[in-house]
Amino acid sequence: MYFLIHNGTLIDGNGGEPVENAAVLIKDRTILDIGQKDSVKVPDGEIKRLDAQGGFILPGFIDCHVHMMFNGFRFENPLYTPLSLYFYEAVRNLEKTLETGVTTARDAGMADYGVKMAVEEGLIIGPRLQISVMPLSITGGHFDLQLKSGKTVKTSYPGLPESVCDGPEEVRKRVREVLRAGAEVVKVMVTGGVISANDSPEHPQFTREELRIIVEEASYRNLPVMAHAHGSSGVKNALNAGIKSIEHGTYLDEECIQLLLENDAWLVATQLAHWSNLELLEDGELPDFSQEDARKVAMNSHKSMKKAYQAGVKIVMGTDSGIAPHGQNLRELGYLCDIGMTPMEAIQAGTKNAAELVGMDKKIGTLEKGKLADVIISQNDPIKDIKSLGSHENIVLVMKEGKVFKDLR
Ligand SMILES: [Zn+2]
Repeated sequence: MYFLIHNGTLIDGNGGEPVENAAVLIKDRTILDIGQKDSVKVPDGEIKRLDAQGGFILPGFIDCHVHMMFNGFRFENPLYTPLSLYFYEAVRNLEKTLETGVTTARDAGMADYGVKMAVEEGLIIGPRLQISVMPLSITGGHFDLQLKSGKTVKTSYPGLPESVCDGPEEVRKRVREVLRAGAEVVKVMVTGGVISANDSPEHPQFTREELRIIVEEASYRNLPVMAHAHGSSGVKNALNAGIKSIEHGTYLDEECIQLLLENDAWLVATQLAHWSNLELLEDGELPDFSQEDARKVAMNSHKSMKKAYQAGVKIVMGTDSGIAPHGQNLRELGYLCDIGMTPMEAIQAGTKNAAELVGMDKKIGTLEKGKLADVIISQNDPIKDIKSLGSHENIVLVMKEGKVFKDLR
């Protein structure tokens, strides 16, 4: 069975000029041929034609930082939420994410191996997942959910490793445990968080020695480490330990930016989370947090990303959806343009470059012969109006691995 997507302008993710009147020929899961319509040879046999109706054909997007099991983060939530509800909510979150045009997502914590399997087996609909299972945290750190009262609001069940670990031996063991649970990337909290029980974003967490051990242990399986990092000293500790993916990066100084460049490391922007926190506050839906603090965090993130972009740091799309509401992922591209990216650069930050960070660039990230058919169609020209990609109605078609999951045409 063949699919032929035609009558659209192709933006293939490689950054070149868009190709008008393009066609994409797909067989099963893979792109068989692609280019100007006349150059694509259409075979005999049964072909399903998908008319792009003059829209824009793009690669499926890759969100490098989501939380499919989160729906906002409030400390009292776990007290009222039965365990199974998290999974049912995740079903809806995954579906929303795919429909927004994200065909691959890296889960930065709490989606376990069963969630990934359920998507792979087609039991539920969602983007292809790369999972970290459980983030590592120090005692009293960003993911130690024991409160000052001594009560804990952590979620635990068989198969889900503990988060908290201290000292060389415990951190090594914890990495082994998350890998045993199916983690494909190790997530570590190297600073405090914006909404946190026991710390602040600028506090560094884990010693350099502990971080070095975490990186070493992951490297034995050829797996990467991603660091939740707001404050500059935590960012530096992470980079010096060999961590290549800095999440958030809210307070970057010159030295951080130099280290990011020298280590050829990546910055995952997550600006959507900051700005949507502010929106939620304005709507009165985030009571534990002041508007002034939220605005400060968002502005600092904007400034840091701008400095990093101007210096040439590799910045990719990540949204922290789950903290931000699900299904708005591509709004991040607008924020990337606010820091100075061109629309084409922002598109690449969410496709080609993001694929490189998650180590899937041989299969996804650009629309090319031989790659998996992750294709979306935008009605509006994203080069003229990048923000239109953030609108649900504008993404009229979403295909993942040759299968159509959304079709509004
Ligand atoms: Zn996160």
